[in-house]
Parts: sequence; structure tokens; C-alpha cells
Amino acid sequence: MTSLLTPKSTTEGTQVPVPRKAQTAVERFRPQARRRLARADILGFLAWSSGAAAVALWLADGGADGFSSFAGTMTGLGIMAGLIGMDLVLLMLLLAARIPFVDNAIGHDRALEVHKKLGKPALYLLLAHGLLLVIGYGAAEGLDPLSEAVSLWTSVPDMWLAFVSMALFIAVVVSSLVAVRRKYPYEFWYAIHLLTYAAVGTAIPHQFSVGGLFAEGTWQRWYWLALCVFTGAALLFYRVYQPLASSFRHQLTVSRVVRVSADVFSIEMTGRNLGRLSGTGGRFFFWRFLASGHWWQPHPFSLSAEPFPGSATAPGKLRITVRNLGDGSARLAQIKPGTKVAVEGPYGLFSTAARSRNKVVMIGAGIGITPLRSLLESTPFEPGSATVLLRGHDESELFLGHEIMALCQARGATLHHLTGPRSAGHHSWLPEPAVQSGFTLTSYVPGIADADVYVCGPTLWADSLIRDVQAAGVPAEQLHYERFDW
Ligand SMILES: Cc1cc2nc3c(=O)[nH]c(=O)nc-3n(C[C@H](O)[C@H](O)[C@H](O)COP(=O)(O)OP(=O)(O)OC[C@H]3O[C@@H](n4cnc5c(N)ncnc54)[C@H](O)[C@@H]3O)c2cc1C
Repeated sequence: MTSLLTPKSTTEGTQVPVPRKAQTAVERFRPQARRRLARADILGFLAWSSGAAAVALWLADGGADGFSSFAGTMTGLGIMAGLIGMDLVLLMLLLAARIPFVDNAIGHDRALEVHKKLGKPALYLLLAHGLLLVIGYGAAEGLDPLSEAVSLWTSVPDMWLAFVSMALFIAVVVSSLVAVRRKYPYEFWYAIHLLTYAAVGTAIPHQFSVGGLFAEGTWQRWYWLALCVFTGAALLFYRVYQPLASSFRHQLTVSRVVRVSADVFSIEMTGRNLGRLSGTGGRFFFWRFLASGHWWQPHPFSLSAEPFPGSATAPGKLRITVRNLGDGSARLAQIKPGTKVAVEGPYGLFSTAARSRNKVVMIGAGIGITPLRSLLESTPFEPGSATVLLRGHDESELFLGHEIMALCQARGATLHHLTGPRSAGHHSWLPEPAVQSGFTLTSYVPGIADADVYVCGPTLWADSLIRDVQAAGVPAEQLHYERFDW
């Protein structure tokens, strides 16, 4: 059954925005969107340039001279593959370092998507590096590749570390393949993934001690050293120092756990200096509940309420809403008030930072509805220029639905509850009765092509919706979605 709830203060009321005001508001977000896209372009440019620079280092050192012989060609190609491969590994580390500039430009999930995509090319280049070099060096010394590999391992300093590094890289990439990852618990995958640091650590010594490219006194050595140090410093700062500093600064403590439905509950926390987190809308944090059995598991959860900053006499408050989707999240329902919480974030672009238009449309399903609530609370819009669509099997699945309705009424947003069974055969994101009645996305949001569209919900549902959003003419930079799966 599809119910349409249109709050009083929508476009039909007296609060219709005057065109002049609306235009000002449109212009308000466009420069921010232009800046964000420019930052994304700069990141792309820097990434490509770093690969080109790696090759340029070698060319500037007269690397191409060896191409006159077979041995020289193999060696040259091997060195180039190694340089680009290592550059990709450093880029992957930077993408996973949770650097705010990267997060604000492309978002955490896109950064991890690119990180994942680079894994296989980096491994292939590093394998090619090893293979081409043993062929090249072997040809120059009259040895077969296997004997050359043994001779490198035993007689060249730091070379055995490079072999260990290769084995570690293979373990990391293979464990990251989707099929392998699904088979094992997240923690197992994560522990193996931490070997990346050992793989990089063991790969570095031979780069500086073998061959002349990074010999002492060369500018190439300084460039490469700076790249490695910058990557290490970014990781230490953003993955270690920042989470510690932020947990210490906010001193979060669980104050209440409130049941929302049979398998959904809200965790409310109090803390200090939460004014520094307000305005983060639907962004997410990694939460680590410091209680026995929980402290070693950081969970990504979005805010379901804007942080309330508090005052000199009252502590600030914030809230997340959790669905029991696995062992760890199920056990969180039993977390006791008074439990301390370590926090990392905020992350992601599911917030006002991604806005580019005056109009805004928020579409959520299941637990994906909850970040929309905090976004709706904080993102600016004129009365009549926001639409919220909530999808669930029935009203009880529209988590925090009453709070969202109250916010829509207070802020002048149009709200539609889309409840009912899944449509059979059509794989539509709409419920069966809506599909049968011929409703489409534009029946609910006629002017969607000129709006920012925020989508959060189960993957298959979101994919079907995103297809419709794109078909309705919404360009990529206006479409913002948060995925809860990894
Ligand atoms: C950006 C984002 C926002 C989310 N917001 C919410 C929300 O507001 N409400 C909600 O109910 N669910 C949310 N989720 C999903 C939620 O994080 C998982 O359902 C939950 O962590 C599962 O933990 P588990 O231990 O029960 O399950 P398991 O599958 O057993 O997970 C085991 C371990 O994997 C970790 N893990 C699982 N998914 C991820 C991931 N994507 N990234 C890193 N670690 C992960 C868990 O924290 C845990 O340590 C969000 C996920 C993401 C990626």
C-alpha cells in the first residue's frame, strides 16, 4: 500500500519561495560543487602525474640507454614496472589514509573503490618487475632466470626482503578478492590487509640500496624518500593520531540504548565539544565501544540525529541507529550506559558538503532511512523545495518515520511513505501497488533533474533506484549515495 503524506507547509502553502530568493540559494551551492569537482580533478591529475614522474625519474637518469640490447630492454622495462607499481601502492595507501582533502573531494567510499581497483594492477606491475629483472640480469650474466633469482636472494643485500615483500603483496591482494573476502570474517580479511604495511616496509630497503637510480646524493633519491615519508606521515596522522585525539576531545559515553523495532535500536551518547561535529548531517563515523568483547571491533555507523552541542552545564548529545545485521551489531543492543566510546570521523559525502542545487530529494529504505533523518535535520532548503521518500515493507519498517514526519512538517518538505511488498518480476525499487498503478519516480518528484538526490538503502534496491534517477536526467554530480556494505 502506498500512502502519500503531504505536510501542510509544502509548495501549496503560503511559503512558496520567491524566485529571487530561490536563485540566491541555487547560487549558494554551485560554487561549492564546482570547488569539490575541481578538487577531484586535482586529485586525478596528481595521481596520474605521480605515475608519470616515476618514469621520468628513470628517464632523466639515462634509463632508456639500455634499450639497445635484450638484457637492457628487459631490465629497463622491469625497473619501470617496479617504479609505477610502487607508486600505485603508495597511492593506494594514501587513498586509505582517510585524508580530509580526499574525503571532501570524492568521499570515503569512492576513495576505497579506487583503492581496490588499483590492487590488481599494482600486483601485476610488481610481479612483472621481479620477472623482467631476473630475465634481464640473467641474460646479462648468462644465467637462467631461476638461477639469477637464487643468486639475487643470496648475494645482494636487502634482496631477500624484496622477495618477502612480494609474497606479502600476493597474500594481501588474493585475500582482497571479493570471492575470498566473502568467505572469511571481516576481521580475518582486515588482519591480512594489515600485512600491506609489512609488504611496503620490506620493499623499501632494496629500492635505495640496489641499483644507482636512488643512490645517495641524487635528487631522485630525495623525491622517492619524500613520497614514502609523506605517505607514512599521512597514515600515522590520520589513522592513528586523529582518532586518538578525537576520542580524547569528545569523551563519548553511552547514555541510553533505545529499542526502535525488533531488530533496530538507537544508541545515544553524551560527550564534550560536540559543536565541532554538528553540521555533519548524514555522515558516518567509526565507533569502537570500549567494553569487553567490543573494543577490538570498530563499526561504521551514520548519525541518525545531528549532534547537539550542549552547553557549560549540559553535555552534548548524539545518536546512531543500528540494525542487527551481523554478530557484532546484534551484541551492541546489550551495550551498557556508561560505556566509553572511541570515535573516528566524520567521513563521507552524504552531507550538505555534496550539495550543488537548491532542491533536494532524499530517498531511503530500511536502515538506510536513518542517515536521511540527520541530513533532513541540518541540510538547508527553502520550504517546498525538499522531498523525502521512505520505502519499507510496512510502516513499522520506516525506522524513525515519525521523527522524519515531524521534521518534514516543521521544515516544509514533502514526504511520501512507499510501503508494500516488492514488485514481482520488475525489480523495481517501488512497492508492487505503486508499480501496478503506473507510478514512477517522477510521479513523486516531478522536478528531480534539478535536485540533489541522496540515496541510502540495500544494494539491489539502491541500484534499481539509481537507474531510475539517472533515467530521470539527474547527472552524476547531483547523485549522492551511501553504501552500508563493504
Ligand atoms: C558508511 C557506512 C555507514 C553505515 N551506517 C549504518 C547505520 O547507520 N546503521 C546500521 O545499522 N548500519 C550501518 N552500516 C552497516 C554496519 O556498519 C554493518 O552492518 C555493521 O558494521 C555490521 O557489523 P557486524 O559485526 O554486526 O557484522 P559482521 O558482518 O560480522 O562484521 C564484522 C566486522 O566488520 C566490520 N564491518 C562491517 N562492515 C564494514 C564496513 N563497511 N567497513 C568497515 N568495517 C565493516 C564490523 O564493524 C565488524 O567489525 C553502515 C556501513 C557503512 C559502510
